[in-house]
Amino acid sequence: MSGPSRRRTLTRVCTHAGCAERGFVEYTSRRDLEHISRDWKCLRHSKPNEVLSAGNPETTAVLTLHPSYIDGYRHGDPPRLLGFFWGPEGAEKGSSGVESGPGFRAIAADFPPGTRLIITARIELPEEQQ
Ligand SMILES: [Zn+2]
Repeated sequence: MSGPSRRRTLTRVCTHAGCAERGFVEYTSRRDLEHISRDWKCLRHSKPNEVLSAGNPETTAVLTLHPSYIDGYRHGDPPRLLGFFWGPEGAEKGSSGVESGPGFRAIAADFPPGTRLIITARIELPEEQQ
């Protein structure tokens, strides 16, 4: 029953000093295991400037519309424009036709090229703690 495709779990500990958070990765072969980075950081420490706190009460992300092309079916055909997709501003391409979060949905096809989607999250602490 324990063939080569049996799933196993690797436990990784966040490499941020003093953090004991653990994450789990499933793998099936020794070769998969060799390609899993041991330098793993938890949700809190992988992008610390995105974690909201009293000292970092607001974050903003900006997405733009990126064109996406598909190759011609016959060799020599020019690529055809497939459409526009949301992606981080400054990135090479977008990947999402719809961006959504609590309270909003932005459908890429509804907007012209050059549109920017600005997403802000802000924490307001109870007044007695401010
Ligand atoms: Zn951590």
